[in-house]
Amino acid sequence: MLKRFLPYYKPYLGLLALDLACALGLGLADLVFPAATRRVVDVIVPAGDMAGLARFGLLLVALYAVRAGLEFILGYYGHVLGVNIQHDLRRDIYRHLHTLDTRFFDDTKTGQIMSRIVGDLFDLAEISHHLPEDLIMAGVRLIGSLVVMLAIDWRLALVVFAIVPAQVLFSSTFRARFRRAFRRNKETMAVINEHIEESVSGVRVVRAFGNEDYERARFDDGNATFRSSRIESVFHIGVFNTGVSFLSNLGLVIVLVAGGYAAWRGSVSVGAYVAFALYVARFFQPIEVLVRSMEQFQEGAAGFGRFLEIVDTKPTIVDAPGAIELASVRGDVEFREVSFRYGDGLERVLERVDLRVAAGETVAIVGPSGAGKTTLCSLIPRFYDIEEGSITVDGLDVREATIASLRQAVGLVQQDVFLFSGSVRDNIAYGRLGASDEEVEAAAAAANALEFIRSLPLGLDTLVGERGVKLSGGQKQRISIARMFLKDPPILILDEATSSLDTMSELAIRESLDRLSRGRTTFIIAHRLATIRHAARILVLTEDGVVEQGRHDDLVAAGGVYRRLYDAQVESLLVS
Ligand code: ADP
Repeated sequence: MLKRFLPYYKPYLGLLALDLACALGLGLADLVFPAATRRVVDVIVPAGDMAGLARFGLLLVALYAVRAGLEFILGYYGHVLGVNIQHDLRRDIYRHLHTLDTRFFDDTKTGQIMSRIVGDLFDLAEISHHLPEDLIMAGVRLIGSLVVMLAIDWRLALVVFAIVPAQVLFSSTFRARFRRAFRRNKETMAVINEHIEESVSGVRVVRAFGNEDYERARFDDGNATFRSSRIESVFHIGVFNTGVSFLSNLGLVIVLVAGGYAAWRGSVSVGAYVAFALYVARFFQPIEVLVRSMEQFQEGAAGFGRFLEIVDTKPTIVDAPGAIELASVRGDVEFREVSFRYGDGLERVLERVDLRVAAGETVAIVGPSGAGKTTLCSLIPRFYDIEEGSITVDGLDVREATIASLRQAVGLVQQDVFLFSGSVRDNIAYGRLGASDEEVEAAAAAANALEFIRSLPLGLDTLVGERGVKLSGGQKQRISIARMFLKDPPILILDEATSSLDTMSELAIRESLDRLSRGRTTFIIAHRLATIRHAARILVLTEDGVVEQGRHDDLVAAGGVYRRLYDAQVESLLVS
């Protein structure tokens, strides 16, 4: 895992070197004080050299001034390094997200992705610099004080070292517990985020059903789980920190007593004894720091592991080697023996479907709900890959075309329009980024949208709100059609585009859709048979595939599935 993380330092080796050099300097500077004390006690004070003492003091002031400088550089540039790494990690995960299969998003909750991108990466940024800094500072202090202590009195030093195995044993026992506890913390936090995301974006549904209490209860569950998981981990931290500092203090007491005895016997000088005691503190402190680093490392590794889970998810829908750029597509679409299922173990949604649509032709697809109409259409732009058979555009298998050029050739107008928070203009121009104002207006006019856009307070610059909440269904629909006029794809899929509208809007939209589909291969997924009465060709899709096709009158006369759907609708119209 570390091997995967190290490359993130690469662009910032200069910063890293500066940071670590400062850490080294700080570690060394901290070794000076006990040695200075020893000199004052053993040499300067007995000699009564007060001028020397003053000079010595000034020297130390200078040293600590330098140390302060180093500390600032470390604090500042260390965090700069961390935030740079965070930036790169976030960039990588975001880019990767957009390469993933549609299926990944079917299976992964938004809140989960959010907490990985926001929370985990923040932790990683902190750890990415604190950890190496701490390792160097603590390492220098540890080794430095160890060497000096051995030099002062090796027997005393051995007494101190006897404590170390106990400390290491103690901390490694806690390692595994930490890792588990932190992973659980992260996971429960992700569940909480996921819930917040869902209940905020679905707030209208929550209110409409008056289900606030239910949502609150569900949230409280997650919140309580996080609390107990967090409390469990702080318990581990508590036991751990207490144990470690108790062991260090024990070391200090041992030195005090054993060293006091040695000084009384005269085998060490008083200055050396005092210095030794000060070094012991400097010896145990880094052990504590290292132990804390370990704790941070666990946290970071858990976060990075979850980051890698996403980054290592390989998309299966990718450009094949030598994929062909689709250029000037005519729009012949053919399904040959196409079978498809949404996932292993799930039932097949489509079973050996055959279908030929010539360039420029309009076909309407009807059938009972759940028959796979939407699914069929989403296979053309390769939102999912089929299991068997082939789908071709102008005779080329869609799997042999580049995904970008394929999707450029297919336009999808969905019933559930998704607008981005921004202006009306931004949302129309989304159809072709960089379109001029005139083009945007022309597209809006073609979509019969200009009139209502002009009546908005700021016209094209009116903000639509998150997902377009400030617009009506029909208005959103027209913006999405305008967007499609700009995109100008040769193949068009209209997914139940008019089923939820009032008659006036529907007429306006129908007219603009007719205009849009002119000269394009068009698939209309329709629920209301009235809207496709005049379609040149109607396909009836059921669980058994395309069971009937033809014109409305012929299909009604044939008395099959279409006839039954038609009768049911006529009946329901009469009833209402
Ligand atoms: P239609 O458009 O004809 O109403 P769909 O194509 O939406 O039908 O759905 C066909 C079947 O596939 C349904 O049984 C539905 O439950 C299932 N389905 C649709 N989308 C998904 C998905 N993303 N993951 C798994 N199953 C799905």
